[in-house]
Amino acid sequence: MMVNTGTAVFCADIGGSFIKFGLSRQQGEVTELAKLPTPAESWDEFVLALQTLLSNHGASLAADTPLAISTAGLVSPQSGEVMATNIPAFAGHNLAAELTQILKRKVSVANDADCFALAEAHVGEGQGLPIVIGVILGTGVGGGIVINGQLVRGHGGVAGEWGHGAITRTELLVEGQRVTLPRLLCGCGQTGCLDMYGGARGMERLHLEFHQLSHSSHQIISGWQDGNTQCALTLEAWLQLVSEPLALLVNIIGPSKIVVGGGLATVAPLIAALDQRLRTQTLHKYSQPLLVPGKYVNQGGLVGASVLGRQR
Ligand SMILES: [Zn+2]
Repeated sequence: MMVNTGTAVFCADIGGSFIKFGLSRQQGEVTELAKLPTPAESWDEFVLALQTLLSNHGASLAADTPLAISTAGLVSPQSGEVMATNIPAFAGHNLAAELTQILKRKVSVANDADCFALAEAHVGEGQGLPIVIGVILGTGVGGGIVINGQLVRGHGGVAGEWGHGAITRTELLVEGQRVTLPRLLCGCGQTGCLDMYGGARGMERLHLEFHQLSHSSHQIISGWQDGNTQCALTLEAWLQLVSEPLALLVNIIGPSKIVVGGGLATVAPLIAALDQRLRTQTLHKYSQPLLVPGKYVNQGGLVGASVLGRQR
C-alpha cells in the first residue's frame, strides 16, 4: 500500500449538528481549527461553509491541499451519494466528485464509523494488524472493517453493519429467568434489529421493558456495578444480545482485533465483560482480549480522515 505521510491534509468531521475542521501534517495527527454548526438543510450553504474554512486556514498551504471528510450517513461507492437522514442537504449529490470540482482539490469521503475503524487500524489499538473491525456502541450500533490497511467499503457503502438484520429471538434465558423481548421496528425498516437493543438507547429500552423503569444507560451500568439485581438482569440480557451477533461477525471476518468506539466504549468494565462473553462464542478461541476500547473514541472522525486523505 502506498501511503503518503509527508504532506498536509485538511480533515472534516461532519455530523448532523456540527462540522469539526482540522489540519493534519502527518497521518494520525490532527490539529482542530474550527467547529461550526452544520448547514444541514442547504447544499449551497454547506459548500460555502467548506470554502470559507479552506480559505480562512489555507493561506500558508498549497492551493490543492486535499480535503478528507468523515461524515454521518452511508456513502455509496457506486453513486458517491451520501444517505444521511440528519443532513438532507446531501440528498442527490455525489459528495466527493462534486466537492473535488468545486473546491479544486482532491476530496475523499467515508462514513464516520469507517473513519473510526481506519484510525484504529492505522494509528490506534489495531495498528499493524491485518484485519481490524471497528464497532460503534453509541446511541445505536454501527461498524466498519479494515483489511490490510484498506477500508472495506462494501456494495452500496454497507459493510460491517452488524446492528441490522432481524434478531429472531423473542425471549432470553437470563440467570434462570425467562424474559420476553419486545419486537421493535428499526429505522432501517426491519423489525427486531440489534440496533434497537444494543446501544445505549437499546439498553434503556430493555430496562424499561423488563422493570418498567426509565433509567439512563449510565444509571443502569452503575447499578450493575453496585450489584443491583434489576440492573444486573438488564445488563446480562444486553450482553447476550450484543455478543451473539458479534460472535457471528467474528466467525465470518476473522478479525485480529475489534476496537470499540461510541459512548459505551468509555465504560471499561462493560467492554471487558462483553469481550469475555464474546470469546466464549467464537469458533477460534482467542487467548487475549479481542474486543478493546478504542484509542480514538472521541476523535475517530478527524483522525480517520487524516488516514483516508492519504490513501490511494
Ligand atoms: Zn435495522
